Amino acid sequence: MTEQSGGPSLPQERRLVTEIPGPRSRELAARKQAAVAAGVPTVMPVFAQAAGGGVVLDVDGNSFIDFGSGIAVTSVGNSAEAVVRRAGEQLARFTHTCAMIAPYEGYVEVCEELARLTPGDHAKKSVLLNSGAEAVENAVKIARYATGRQAVVVFEHGYHGRTNLTMALTAKDMPYKHGFGPFAPEIYRVPMAYPFRWLTGPENCAEQAAAQVIEKITKEIGTENTAAIVFEPLQGEGGFIEPAKGFLPRIAEFAAAHGIVLVADEIQSGFCRTGQWFACEDEGVVPDLVTTAKGIAGGLPLAAVTGRAELMDAAHVGGLGGTYGGNPVACAAALGAIETMRTLDLPARARRIEEVMKPRLRAMAERFPVIGEVRGRGAMLAVELVKPGTKDPDAATTSAVLAACHRAGLLVLSCGTYGNVLRFLPPLVIGEPLLEEGLDVLEEAFAGV
Ligand SMILES: *Cc1c(COP(=O)(O)O)cnc(C)c1O
Repeated sequence: MTEQSGGPSLPQERRLVTEIPGPRSRELAARKQAAVAAGVPTVMPVFAQAAGGGVVLDVDGNSFIDFGSGIAVTSVGNSAEAVVRRAGEQLARFTHTCAMIAPYEGYVEVCEELARLTPGDHAKKSVLLNSGAEAVENAVKIARYATGRQAVVVFEHGYHGRTNLTMALTAKDMPYKHGFGPFAPEIYRVPMAYPFRWLTGPENCAEQAAAQVIEKITKEIGTENTAAIVFEPLQGEGGFIEPAKGFLPRIAEFAAAHGIVLVADEIQSGFCRTGQWFACEDEGVVPDLVTTAKGIAGGLPLAAVTGRAELMDAAHVGGLGGTYGGNPVACAAALGAIETMRTLDLPARARRIEEVMKPRLRAMAERFPVIGEVRGRGAMLAVELVKPGTKDPDAATTSAVLAACHRAGLLVLSCGTYGNVLRFLPPLVIGEPLLEEGLDVLEEAFAGV
């Protein structure tokens, strides 16, 4: 079939022209099996040919509604106009000099934007990196250097990446950590205020969880040994868990009182996803350091640590960096993505997506008792599936609904410590008719399982 170009001009429709997967995808799957390491998972059984707006087109000509955005990455859409224009111009000018050797304006401009956009009006600086995991690693390096302390506190259900240190920071064994130890030392895991699963009920969750966290840090770890508390303001891979209101402000206050660096991992929740530029803004939490990646550059690999200038300046010259960190093409793409977020007011679009999706998901929860909870904010929404009438996780039905959606032309992802959460991360530029149609497909999938 002829090459189809992607981007916003791609026909915005769900269209199935072959069985799923089609013949061309099956052929590629066989080649993948022979050439690609088995440990690299595949969520969708189809291979992509083009993508843009709210759709992904596969190599057989099937057009899927995109409720995944490549895991919250293409918030501005695939091949967004400003991303292609600015990254394209940069590609033709130069592709790499190494920011540590001959720096360039784009790197500085991205850091200036990050200082403006991230929470808090204190003086801020940034370092640019390649991936989310690398950003989290660097945040820990900076916090340890600046405090002279070693312990790092993380939360149950947290996810921070797949490198050795970030595997240690991540909660879930299978598939992220299993068999890959030993892990980095001086990592301590504390309870998360997970309202749906808090034993004494959601009302007491924030207060009791915060008290447990504070007691653990005070009595078991030692505040004076604690360099950083690393948290996701809205947990991603762990199940789109919104910490009970009041929990994060209490933790932030405790960290500030004890000189502990508060690190917000906004890699999945940041850049307009939750209806605000950053999810921390919801409760007015101002972290000392923020890690960003995913949504930052419209699909090009870029990540950052942004934070208080005095913390960011603590490490010696040469202590931070990397060959590709802040690659000029990725920086140009980030500036194009940020331009798009401003021009189209993507935080408002995320809030509108919530307005359209949440009532429909709630109606589905009424109709299908397997849905135990509807949660999330903006265009970071989820349903948690349980055995009806209990809170026992139902991973089997989750997989069945997922597969039914995929067969019907809707790209959806799952997540959760118990593998029982369907998460919805549509591109923020998705059209409302497609959004409604995607919800129809989801509802039919629930009805069918
Ligand atoms: C995806 C993710 C990471 C890791 O980012 P990579 O780019 O995959 O290394 C870290 N933290 C959170 C919250 C994430 O969602």
